[in-house]
Amino acid sequence: MKMQPGEVFDSPTRWLVESRSTPGETYLVELVSYRGNGSCQCKWFVTQMEPLLARGVDAEYAYTQNLIAQPKKWPEKPARHCLRCDHILSARDDYAQMKLEEDAIAQKNSTL
Ligand SMILES: [Zn+2]
Repeated sequence: MKMQPGEVFDSPTRWLVESRSTPGETYLVELVSYRGNGSCQCKWFVTQMEPLLARGVDAEYAYTQNLIAQPKKWPEKPARHCLRCDHILSARDDYAQMKLEEDAIAQKNSTL
């Protein structure tokens, strides 16, 4: 399920992503936090994921050791994303799209 696109906050790696369960509520996602894992202000991230990241646990270890409960809605979520909430994944996708569009423009300009 695709979330609404987020918007860049004050730098390209900081995004505001809207809550699906509470329309109008937004969370600040910082993509570079925790060595590129990202961080979010939502309750799920702050209570379930951030304590592990703060201890230096990485996603692969958390996944293989069953340190984090995965909601049933994420059966297909790969291990590398198990310490990322939906908001972080959405912001990463938006960030990648923005960078690809910038690269596409740069490549087009370089061939003119
Ligand atoms: Zn979140």
